[in-house]
Amino acid sequence: MIQSGRVGRLAAAGFFALWLSVQCQGQSLWDLANEKKDVLRISTLFDARNVRDNLASEEGIKQAVEWCKQTGVTHVFIETFRDNYTAERPVLERAKARFKAEGFDVSGCVTPTKVGKLSGGWDSISCYTNAGTQKQLQEIFEYAASLFHEIMIDDFLFTDCQCDECKAARGSRSWAEYRCDLMVRVSRERILGAARAVNPAVKIIIKYPQWYEEFHNRGYEVLRETADYDRIWVGTETRDYNNKRWGGDVQYKGYYIMRWLGEIGGAKCGGGWFDPFGTTQDTYVEQARQTVLADAKEMLLFCYGALLRDTGPANVEKLRAEIPGLFKLAQLVRGKPIKGIIAPKPPNSDAFNEQYVFDFVGMLGLPLVPTANISSNANAAFLSVHSLKDPALSGKLQTMLAAGSPVLMTDGLAERLGSLDLQKENVVILKVNGKPRDLLSLTREQLKPIRDKLLAPFGMKFDAPNKVGLYLIGDNCLVVENFNDKDIDAAIEFTKAVNGRQVLVLPAEGKADLKQEGGKLVFSRITPRTLVVLEY
Ligand SMILES: [Zn+2]
Repeated sequence: MIQSGRVGRLAAAGFFALWLSVQCQGQSLWDLANEKKDVLRISTLFDARNVRDNLASEEGIKQAVEWCKQTGVTHVFIETFRDNYTAERPVLERAKARFKAEGFDVSGCVTPTKVGKLSGGWDSISCYTNAGTQKQLQEIFEYAASLFHEIMIDDFLFTDCQCDECKAARGSRSWAEYRCDLMVRVSRERILGAARAVNPAVKIIIKYPQWYEEFHNRGYEVLRETADYDRIWVGTETRDYNNKRWGGDVQYKGYYIMRWLGEIGGAKCGGGWFDPFGTTQDTYVEQARQTVLADAKEMLLFCYGALLRDTGPANVEKLRAEIPGLFKLAQLVRGKPIKGIIAPKPPNSDAFNEQYVFDFVGMLGLPLVPTANISSNANAAFLSVHSLKDPALSGKLQTMLAAGSPVLMTDGLAERLGSLDLQKENVVILKVNGKPRDLLSLTREQLKPIRDKLLAPFGMKFDAPNKVGLYLIGDNCLVVENFNDKDIDAAIEFTKAVNGRQVLVLPAEGKADLKQEGGKLVFSRITPRTLVVLEY
């Protein structure tokens, strides 16, 4: 009997420990997220269908609250309109009150799809020249502003319409000019003006999609719209490069666009937004890492309904495990200036045949500083055809060449510059041949001299295979991220002796074996899909 009593006590103690650990884990992510939300806030969206299907009953709300708490979500966006469906006022009001009572921050959202007259082009997109469309848009925002003090607009506020009404209204302007003017005017009159008339305290967020090269062509105008709206938000959904339906975007795109719009928006920039479509667990959390690494103050997980099906639950499980590390990452990068090679995309610049070249160059282990401006006193620069948008390009380039600053230039830009003498030692021509994605097949040996030249002003060299990102944060912090599906080795060589220490590895079970010899930091191994942060 004594024996079994001991066993019983041991078993009870074991159960208690298990219970305690489950309680701690369950509660601690919610508690931790509340404690850290000024560093990084985590949010989700209940789209209009989720509102109807998941938030109309007390049981549905309870499940949603529980899911959010377990996921570290402390901010919910509740959507009033999508695909010509308007969520019902009593359901919205009750959901808003219940989430507030549970301790959440609550905002609204509108997705302007299937509004009024359709464009006939991109599915669900509208003709905004049309008076009926404008009238309905106004009503949608008046309704949302009567319910919420903050409203996000999901990234369908653009147009590709070429109907007779649009053609007549466009006159002699280019489609890009016409659409930018149109969407700026519609935003002022039918969204901002209309919403503020109903609710003077309302703040409206314009969320820009991840397809930044096409913004101006479809009427997203990052200068005037960012100036007009109260806040901006950034699409960082890169999904899985190899996915048949959703693929084609490399991970670095999330970082590039988040930093680029972060500079343009400054204090107005709220955060980044990504989704589970076409992702694996690994590529899903890579979206979170790039968003946070790019200094986003918040990350929005689109959306509750989508995260409950298909790959969603597995993605969320992996993300939950990584959230404590993401808070650390946010703390390490918050507000620190980044160092590296300026990579300018002037607003409204055309990509010609170098679409998203910045994203691919970032995958080569070149630490970029995404920017809207070409600064001639940069330590190093990557210039593509986008730079032609800047009328002062030629003078700025000559200043850089004379100063001896290394300039990596695409073959496309070099061709278009024609008469300019580029036979300088500090110029490296990058052969893109109009196919930025082919840069991913450059070998380590081909990359070595490019990296060495461009990194010389920073007193360092970097050696690694392709698809290993390098980020220089502040004066004493750097990040290496292996996007490959296999172990890699890498080395960072400084001109001065340094003392590097590893301060974070993501995922927690990832491995980075570091040795140092004087100014040389050698990783004999970084495991697949692993991010390492060093302070030195
Ligand atoms: Zn039209």
